[in-house]
Amino acid sequence: MASYDYDLFVIGGGSGGVRAARVAAALGKRVGIAEEFRFGGTCVIRGCVPKKLYVYASQFPEHFADAAGYGWTVPKAEFNWQTLVANKEREISRLEAIYKKNVQGAGGETFQSRAVLVEPHVVRLVDQDRTVTADQILIATGGRPASHPALPGHEHCIFSNEAFDLPELPKAIMIEGGGYIAVEFANIFHGLGVETTLVYRGKEILSRFDMDLRSMLHETMVKKGIRILCRSVSEHIKKRPDGRLDAHVTGGVVLTVDQVMLAIGRVPNTENLGLEQVGVEMNTAGAINVDRYSRTNVANIWAIGDVTHRVQLTPVAIHEAMCFVETAFRNNPTAPDHETIATAVFSQPEIGTVGLSEDEAVQRFADVEIYRAAFRPMRNTLAGRDEKMLTKLVVDGASRKVLGAHILGPDAGEMAQLLGIPLKAGVSKDDFDRTMAVHPTAAEELVTMYKPTYRVRNGQRID
Ligand code: NDP
Repeated sequence: MASYDYDLFVIGGGSGGVRAARVAAALGKRVGIAEEFRFGGTCVIRGCVPKKLYVYASQFPEHFADAAGYGWTVPKAEFNWQTLVANKEREISRLEAIYKKNVQGAGGETFQSRAVLVEPHVVRLVDQDRTVTADQILIATGGRPASHPALPGHEHCIFSNEAFDLPELPKAIMIEGGGYIAVEFANIFHGLGVETTLVYRGKEILSRFDMDLRSMLHETMVKKGIRILCRSVSEHIKKRPDGRLDAHVTGGVVLTVDQVMLAIGRVPNTENLGLEQVGVEMNTAGAINVDRYSRTNVANIWAIGDVTHRVQLTPVAIHEAMCFVETAFRNNPTAPDHETIATAVFSQPEIGTVGLSEDEAVQRFADVEIYRAAFRPMRNTLAGRDEKMLTKLVVDGASRKVLGAHILGPDAGEMAQLLGIPLKAGVSKDDFDRTMAVHPTAAEELVTMYKPTYRVRNGQRID
């Protein structure tokens, strides 16, 4: 066997790459990993982690308002954006150092450098102007926000990357898109006191989710004061003499704002990586094609995470990393399982969901039972907050299998994590019915919905 500098070289130090490097190094493999920006990748540096911190920050005004009903007098609160940004930066720097240290602690070598493929076993560390060789190479370079060159004035727009570190909190913002990022940021900015408009091209936000969640979240966001324009797109963005922006959207609507943020999906980072040079195949969207074990068409080159455009979620990249290590280094071919992935949207209220939406279930099953409860969570009663929670189960009437569980309301993300386990295990509605409630909680609704709210037989709703 040829001798290489490394058993594994990983390109990209995000959640997936770092996990693969750390676990392979812990197995005693000689591992190198290169990151051109900051270890931790999108999730830690400019994604999930700072996003969740900003969600917390944006929830305080509602907590302050709700406190009155519980007898508290809260003095007028003031918010300082720069403090939040600085504290966020401190926390992600701490996590960044841990990510790096964990790889090194397991025996791996970290490189602060862009890395590109030169040959199937050769990687060039661009910033160090040298090459290294490796038996196996893993590409985990992630993705970035999709740009919108067709939009006149797109150069005035920002993306989620910039939104975290704006020098000033805008007074007004327009966000384009109706997916996770657009919806989460609309709630964050609104909560922080920014006049917020969400512009979405489709008929209802969050196209991949259950319609009940989508419409109820939409309604609640509007009630809070977020303006949502569906079936709308921005047509051009103009800079005004006063430095603000005029966003011209469908129907002659003009929004004067301080920032326009585009959240219209993410694209894989595959440019100038040397992929073409070594013959790694990509699809038309520029994502790396892999087989079910995350192997590319070049036998010793693998790819995981967002760069493969399978499911763009951090835990999925981590799972793919673990499967890759099993396959490549433990002689145990393991394909990642992408079925029934629980997920959350950190909107306000939150969405937690796993499995099929009602519409998806109706397409695939002849007899679908829907169990649905919309209620005011106890916390909102004394607070005087007129905001409902939704729990919904989608059940196959023939087998009694629970196909989907959907929650809108406080802590829905936490609940989705726990619901992910029984749904993955193929739980039946009878198991839910046999389960004792935890009282008083909001989640108890999930086990006390004994009668279907309605059924859908062969596409026909029966009340
Ligand atoms: P999404 O794919 O979720 O949403 C993209 C949105 O942009 C959709 O509403 C889409 O509309 C719209 N869109 C696409 N192209 C255009 C266009 N040319 N003009 C106008 N609108 C357009 O992507 P995000 O950017 O929100 O997030 C990227 C990924 O990151 C997500 O898929 C998710 O997997 C991950 N993520 C996960 C989070 C979590 O787990 N909580 C949080 C944030 C991100 P349409 O619906 O019509 O296609």
